[in-house]
Amino acid sequence: MKNRTLVTALPFHLGQEVTIAGWLHNLRDMKNFGFAILRDRTGLAQVVLEAAHLEQLKGLQLETVIKVIGVVKEKKSKDPNAKEVEVQCVTLEILSPVTDPVPVEIAKPDIDVQLETLLDNRVVTLRHPKQRAIFRVQAALVHGYRAYMERQGFTEIFFPILAGAASEGGAEFFKVNYYDREATLTQSAQLYKQITMGVYEGVYGLSYSFRAEKFATSRHLTEFNQFEFEVGFVDGMGEVMDHAEAVIREQIATVERDCIEELKLLNVTLPPLGAQFPRVTLKEALQLYKDEGGIDETAEPDLSPAAERWLSTEWAPKAHGSGFVFVTSYPEAKAKFYTKPDHDHPGDMFNFDLIGFGSEIISGGLRVNRYDEQIQRIKDKGLNPADFEDYLMMHKYGIPPEGGFGMGLQRLTQNILSLSNIKEATIFPRDVQRLRP
Ligand code: ATP
Ligand code: MG
Repeated sequence: MKNRTLVTALPFHLGQEVTIAGWLHNLRDMKNFGFAILRDRTGLAQVVLEAAHLEQLKGLQLETVIKVIGVVKEKKSKDPNAKEVEVQCVTLEILSPVTDPVPVEIAKPDIDVQLETLLDNRVVTLRHPKQRAIFRVQAALVHGYRAYMERQGFTEIFFPILAGAASEGGAEFFKVNYYDREATLTQSAQLYKQITMGVYEGVYGLSYSFRAEKFATSRHLTEFNQFEFEVGFVDGMGEVMDHAEAVIREQIATVERDCIEELKLLNVTLPPLGAQFPRVTLKEALQLYKDEGGIDETAEPDLSPAAERWLSTEWAPKAHGSGFVFVTSYPEAKAKFYTKPDHDHPGDMFNFDLIGFGSEIISGGLRVNRYDEQIQRIKDKGLNPADFEDYLMMHKYGIPPEGGFGMGLQRLTQNILSLSNIKEATIFPRDVQRLRP
């Protein structure tokens, strides 16, 4: 729209005539005059209407799309330092009339409905300033990630979603009809990012992952986005963790820089980062949970959700001033076939999770890069190397020592904004029940 002024820019136009456009967020009819709240993508503005304008709005509902030409004036406020502005309407144009009342009230500081109702009415509830803010923060996380990776000289890759066979084994696959065959939706870009190690040495991408999760939890979706990353010619796993830590720091710095208003609106304090994210082995983590958390899970091969929460929201902030903690060396039994064994510590693997302010947000590690060793690992896992022909081709023709990680975009958003359910951090979530809107 030509000559349109956005709401946040109004204070720079004091005394001038401007054109603003947006949605009728709220309306107060005082008979001879009225106050409309106009919402655009940047914020809310009060518009003072005359009786004739109110007449134009007769029979119309909130969310009607309007265009206002008017004069920017200082708003009378109880607080003389407030320096707020409003627009005195001269002409009002209806761009898109709404005649049905909105199904969920969004013209108040918080939408107070159940999560399922919020999502059923996503088309409307997404317009609420706080809902909008969540996905502005999410976009900033992506910008920070991309900026970091580009600065390293890494290459952005767009990975396929449709695949002919289940790449990592397991049952949590969605099958789709593909002409006269069956295809699957990829669980991760593992195979593809590793293949590119033979070319680009450092790659990243924001891919889609699909998991046929059987149960509804507050941390799992059936469709989510994953920041994928892989880097070659590494000396060890520390190098991969260094990238993970640096990229998170940049992502959070980007949110702090670009989302000042959003963070204020959501009333969140971002998790502390500390000087360095602590790095502990799984055994050490379980020992800490026993000694300092008082719960003995030392016989377990993994961290329970409660242990992850304790470690990242209690232990790490207190001991290291950080809401993030790396846990390394998960046992062989839980590791994927592509994970590199730590031959100096038999039974341990070169793998890690980054637990970020509540739960796991990253899984990563070093990969087997030698052909013979990879064939052996596949056999050891009870899988058939013949099913991994494409995968093994890269090893056969040489990939460097390498590693990488996957980080869930929605999981990261959930944790840094302290949202209780991952679906709140997902613009159009899919779960066991939900496929709409
Ligand atoms: P979890 O233990 O949390 O179920 P995972 O270990 O099965 O996750 P990975 O294969 O390691 O998952 O995936 C890498 C990252 O992707 C995870 O660290 C997490 O951030 C995210 N992620 C994994 N599964 C889901 C899911 N179902 N919904 C949303 N994000 C997920
Ligand atoms: Mg994992």
